[in-house]
Amino acid sequence: MNTAAHLPGHPHIARKDGVLHVEGQPLPVLARQYGTPLFVYSRQWMLDALAAYQRGFEGRDAMVCYAIKANSSLGVLRVFAEAGCGFDIVSGGELARVLAAGADPVKVIFSGVGKTRGEMRQALAAGIGCFNVESEAEIDVLNEVALEEGRVASISVRINPNVDPKTHPYISTGLKGNKFGIAHDRAVAIYQHAASLKGLKVVGIDCHIGSQITDASPYLEALERVLDLVEAIEKTGVALHHLDFGGGLGIDYNGDTPPAADALWHQLLARLDARGFGQRRLIVEPGRSLVGNAGVCVTEVLFTKPGEDKNFCIVDAAMNDLPRPAMYQAFHQIVPLAPERAEPPAVTYDVVGPVCESGDWIGRDRALKVQSGDLLAVLSAGAYCMAMASNYNTRGRAPEVLVSGERATLIRRRETIDDQLLSERLAD
Ligand code: PLP
Repeated sequence: MNTAAHLPGHPHIARKDGVLHVEGQPLPVLARQYGTPLFVYSRQWMLDALAAYQRGFEGRDAMVCYAIKANSSLGVLRVFAEAGCGFDIVSGGELARVLAAGADPVKVIFSGVGKTRGEMRQALAAGIGCFNVESEAEIDVLNEVALEEGRVASISVRINPNVDPKTHPYISTGLKGNKFGIAHDRAVAIYQHAASLKGLKVVGIDCHIGSQITDASPYLEALERVLDLVEAIEKTGVALHHLDFGGGLGIDYNGDTPPAADALWHQLLARLDARGFGQRRLIVEPGRSLVGNAGVCVTEVLFTKPGEDKNFCIVDAAMNDLPRPAMYQAFHQIVPLAPERAEPPAVTYDVVGPVCESGDWIGRDRALKVQSGDLLAVLSAGAYCMAMASNYNTRGRAPEVLVSGERATLIRRRETIDDQLLSERLAD
């Protein structure tokens, strides 16, 4: 009998006869073919996540710009480019990536607090849609660079609305003490200054208050503050063509219940309509909510190690592959690939990697029935995992497979030691 049971909160991950599948692909087969650790992504999950935004904006003038910092692999970018998305980038490297994936440059916006002159020139030459500028100093430098290049840079100013997004402090970005955006009370003067500069064209306003936000209220609060500012700025004669509310919507890692993108935007659009801004062009920059639960990381149990205080399950994935737990004590569910069996009995383990840091843990206090050679899936690994992966301990970065129904495509091969040594030289 062939039975399929979807994992709660993961509609494209299911057990079929007990074996974990991503869409139509059994994960043990992919692990055998490509080795572990291995990232596997569901294309359909990404498209469904995007469709929730598109439903939310139906009938509106809106653009979804995928924030590629969440997962910048070319194969993933191509999925969003083909679906008509724009892109939110934060470096010249990310610009090169989106162009290589087939992005329309006009649909690219460039965020980030520290753009270099070289990156500004690169983006002007590519003809990107908008620079989201984050300081008075950046406004003046971008103006200079644009004039030198004989171009006009379209800009939006990122406002720091001083709203608490109620998330981890490392991923809160819209509070007074954060380095992002310009202070609310400086905004009108800064817009007037920017509008007077010949190398710049003011086109919008933006904010991004944080990441893994699971509640609509911080968005509603930020929206009111941004709209207050839009009214004040436009009173001075500076017109704002678009309003960009950033990204930040959370996903379900461990029973989290963020609003669906369409439900969130239903609420936000009601406020925009009520204040007379419902027909303004809207931009959003979601990252995590478009890819986070599309991905799993498959890892093999190397050893189990009983200890006096703790038992350890040592796996072949590590903090260089899955940095979120080490960086912000983040939670990933960890489940076996194979059907549950009677032996060995469940033991409570800290699931840890081979990297030489006590911070190298992937999950704490997990009850698992495992032995050497077993395969585990670390769930919700589509966002801020591969994009943050490093070569720490001279570990090659893991391969990535994109699954679409029955089809599996290797979109990144495993990094070899030759790849790592290629850019290095011995001193003379
Ligand atoms: N936009 C900006 C400016 C960001 O800094 C980020 C991430 O921090 C995002 C969008 C994407 O956020 P998320 O992945 O939480 O949607």
